[in-house]
This record gives sequence, structure tokens and C-alpha cells, in this order.
Amino acid sequence: MPRRLHSQPIDSQHATLVNQATEPFSPAELPNTGHLIILSGPSGAGKSTVVRELLGNCPLPIELSVSATTRKQRVGEVEGRDYHFVTHEQFDRMRQAGEFLECKEVFGRGDWYGTPVAQTEQGLKTGHWMLLEIDVQGALSVMEKRPEVVSFFVHPGSLEELAIRLRRRGTDDEQAIQRRLEVAAEELQALKHYKHEVINHQVKLTAAEICNILHQYC
Ligand code: 5GP
Repeated sequence: MPRRLHSQPIDSQHATLVNQATEPFSPAELPNTGHLIILSGPSGAGKSTVVRELLGNCPLPIELSVSATTRKQRVGEVEGRDYHFVTHEQFDRMRQAGEFLECKEVFGRGDWYGTPVAQTEQGLKTGHWMLLEIDVQGALSVMEKRPEVVSFFVHPGSLEELAIRLRRRGTDDEQAIQRRLEVAAEELQALKHYKHEVINHQVKLTAAEICNILHQYC
């Protein structure tokens, strides 16, 4: 797994130029336009815990975008907070109506996930920093449509470390772990498209690092 210094924009010149890209709305209409943020990386890298820490402790007005999904609700998950749980039919209707900024079938198991464009745009209009915690394929779609997006690739440092964490988590059998590791190896190829790479050794430090980087975009 390639390593890069923490907190370094992958291409700082590019990052600066991108950051000056035209906003989707005119400043006269929308004086408080927020920022779009993506956080993605291999499953098992600890993204969700980092997101919780970021929402709880970063003083910026970050709002988590709530995705729609066709996957089953897990114990402890709350409709409208964790996801909008919808049927395949509802998801298809939303997709056809252009209600998603992006949508993907994640892990190829028939479960679809999509970022509702309305919540994102509303949040941006009201000056929020809209955080999308989405998979790499979804992230690449958003980067194409919205090149100004501040993107973070969060990973555990190596595939060996990822395997240790997935086994420790205990939610998958060995076959599923192997599949996740294969997907992670593929996802690493996309690392170069992200503006920031963050290695998640310690959740609090990782969230603080992301928060510091975000302050550069204020
Ligand atoms: P889980 O089912 O464990 O909650 O999430 C599985 C994967 O789907 C995670 O990698 C998560 O980042 C991704 N994901 C969640 N919401 C979206 C979304 O709206 N779009 C895409 N492309 N991926 C998503």
C-alpha cells in the first residue's frame, strides 16, 4: 500500500485551482455557500467512527448527508439518521427522477446506495459543510460532477492492518473478509484521485487531522 505524508494535498497546486472553481450558485443569491466533503476508503478502515468523532468535535458546521439504501436496516440503526431505508422500487423511482447526486451498487450484493441531491444542495445553500461518507466508485462520480469537492481517502496504512481490523471486528466470515480485502486493493488504485490521504491509526487524531485540513478551506 503506498504511503504518503499525512495532511498533504495530493497535488496542492491542483487543490488550490480546484478550490477556486466556480460555485454552483451565484454568490449574490447564496452568500453562505458551504463546502462539499467526501470521506471514503476501504470498508473496515474506521470511517464511520471517524465521521462520528468529526461531527462531535470539529467546530465547523458539518452536516452528514443521509443516503438512501435498499439494504436491510440493522439493529440499532435509525431511519432518517443512519439511512433512508427504501425498497428497490422506491430507489429506482428516485433514480429515474434524478434525485441522486450519485448512486451505486456497493459490494456487488444487490444493495444500492445513493446520495440524495436535495439534502446536499439545501445544506450547501445554508452554509453547511456537507459530508458524504460513500464508497470509492460513488466518490469518483461526485468528483467528476463537482470537482471542487474536498475529498479524503481514509485507510488503515496497509492491507495487512486492514485484515487484522476486519478479523477483530468479527462481523464477517473469512470469505467475506477476503472479498473486502480484494475490493480494498482495487479501491487503492483510486487513491490518486483524492485531494487528501489520511491514515487512520487513532480515531481522535484522524478526526482532528481532517478537521485541521478542512480549516484550510475556510
Ligand atoms: P454499510 O452498508 O456498511 O452502511 O455501507 C456500505 C458501504 O456503502 C460503505 O462503504 C459506505 O461508505 C457506502 N455508502 C453509504 N452510502 C452511500 C451512498 O450514498 N453512495 C455510495 N456510493 N456509497 C455509499
